Amino acid sequence: MIHQGRPSGWIELVCGPMFSGKTEELIRRLRLVQIAKQRVQIFKPSIDNRYEDDYIISHSEQRFLCKPVSDAKEILQHIADTTRVVGVDEAQFFGEDIIQIVAKLADRGLRVIIAGLDQDFRGEPFGPMPRLMAVAESVLKLKAVCMVCGGLATKTQRLTRDDATVVVGSGEAYEARCRACFDPDFSLARCAPPIPVSKQQAQRSHGTQSAFGTSESN
Ligand SMILES: [Zn+2]
Repeated sequence: MIHQGRPSGWIELVCGPMFSGKTEELIRRLRLVQIAKQRVQIFKPSIDNRYEDDYIISHSEQRFLCKPVSDAKEILQHIADTTRVVGVDEAQFFGEDIIQIVAKLADRGLRVIIAGLDQDFRGEPFGPMPRLMAVAESVLKLKAVCMVCGGLATKTQRLTRDDATVVVGSGEAYEARCRACFDPDFSLARCAPPIPVSKQQAQRSHGTQSAFGTSESN
């Protein structure tokens, strides 16, 4: 889009719980940009040290070169003149200043694609995400599959009783859960809800099926 001789930028946001494919979606969009030979730069908060420092990697091993930064302002220092598209992963771990920074980039005519968790392990809006959702031109809320009942999962369940908001690690400490199975206070039993008798009989004759998928993506 061109306005008064100046290309207009915009902000796209992809959010959802863990295991909903956010990083996959970010990488998919960035790939299309690369195919069009536009220059892309990607940033993530350096607090996320799950993987090697210079890549964002989806759980299905697609990888993209990425610059870890200790705070959002640092992004501006690294933007090259020729860059057209900026990706930001794990945006929930940035401070509120990320909102101003991405707005500045979009105002300059850049396309900004942001991925992050919309809710923390308590089910509360996560860091700058609610305000980023408000200012973005487009928002995609992804869902995962509830790892207890197989329903529509919008929550990230922490499986340990660690109270720090930021626990960065592999998927083992978390599950995607639906609203009914989400249990931030550990007040419910962790098992699946009772299975109706007719299904129990069916499972006995066909073997028990696991509600857990074998491959997961963030
Ligand atoms: Zn569920």
